[in-house]
Amino acid sequence: MKETTAPAEPLIPGARRLDICRILGESYDPARWNDWHWQMRHRLSRPEQLEQLLQLIPGERRGLALCQGKLAVAVTPYLAELLDPLDSSCPLRMQVVPREEEALVAATDMVDPCGEEHDSVVPGLVHRYPDRVLLLAIDTCAAYCRYCTRSRLVAHGRLGGLGQRIDAIIAYLEAHTEVRDVLISGGDPLLFSDEKLDELLGRIRAVPHVEMVRLGSRVVSFLPQRITPSLVTVLRQHRVWLSLHFSHAAELTPEVAQACDLLADGGIPLGSQTVLLRGINDSVTELRALFHGLLKLRVRPYYLYQCDPVVGTSHLRTTVAKGLELVAGLRGHTSGYAVPAYVIDAPGGGGKVPIHPETVVGYENGTLLLRNWEGGVYTYRDPVNV
Ligand code: SF4
Repeated sequence: MKETTAPAEPLIPGARRLDICRILGESYDPARWNDWHWQMRHRLSRPEQLEQLLQLIPGERRGLALCQGKLAVAVTPYLAELLDPLDSSCPLRMQVVPREEEALVAATDMVDPCGEEHDSVVPGLVHRYPDRVLLLAIDTCAAYCRYCTRSRLVAHGRLGGLGQRIDAIIAYLEAHTEVRDVLISGGDPLLFSDEKLDELLGRIRAVPHVEMVRLGSRVVSFLPQRITPSLVTVLRQHRVWLSLHFSHAAELTPEVAQACDLLADGGIPLGSQTVLLRGINDSVTELRALFHGLLKLRVRPYYLYQCDPVVGTSHLRTTVAKGLELVAGLRGHTSGYAVPAYVIDAPGGGGKVPIHPETVVGYENGTLLLRNWEGGVYTYRDPVNV
């Protein structure tokens, strides 16, 4: 399958891009820059590379030293260009450059907060909800988010190759006729080649009772070059839904817009999940800018996650009260499409639970009291003839 590289590049690249190529020991070539394989091969991961890329603060320098052996560091050249070299509070930089606080383990921290290991039925297949499963296909990502809920798995090489696991996974799916929905995640499954993805999707699609296949991916924000016409053809052919992941409006670059256009024009349904992160997107202004920006790209923001209590992430987590305040600040003040459901993935394997106590004032004897966005209280009564 032929791959077409997408975005047209300026003839004269910015100084920052040239700088990044210099750090990588490469000469700038727009065709290579737009090749997702080149981007993956040239990720910046070594402390000395980040030292040249950014004016590191001591907490980042110590974070880079401490995170060795924990969650890997990797930044695609594309993403590196977006990081503010002078401002350590840059919302993109805070997501991918470790801080020394990652070494702190709070009493509430958990290695596997969503309890995926407990619900694992065969290696890399999690079956928690009655009709759907989560397939952990790959442990590689284009860049590593410091708050990753699967930091126990990603980039550690513990998951094992899909080739060795896929027969057992398909056998489980075939035997469990209640499974109608398969979410493929990782890591990032869009880092598979088109051919490998086509084969994987084909095998899952061949299971007669599987009605829906979803892919969870962050490449659109970290590596938009991956979205090529040939990839879109594969996704369309297998009628895949795409769950994207964005944290901040600064991720919505022209390259990302082009990638989303390719996907949306190709008929791929697009949704987005966002993790609420302290100092990164914990204000109504930041969230609204992100959600409005996504809708302009035909991406429906559908979940706002309370950050999972993963080991070493307390510095990035907000309180639930803060989350409720933010959602209240969005609801009614903008289109319903721009207000995702605010959910907690209940620690210990309780699954996703929507939180909106601010709207439910009371519910007794079939009478529900609801508070609307202006603070008015309205009554909804259940039918009496049931
Ligand atoms: S892209 Fe997803 S799986 Fe990968 S590090 Fe980020 S949150 Fe974790």
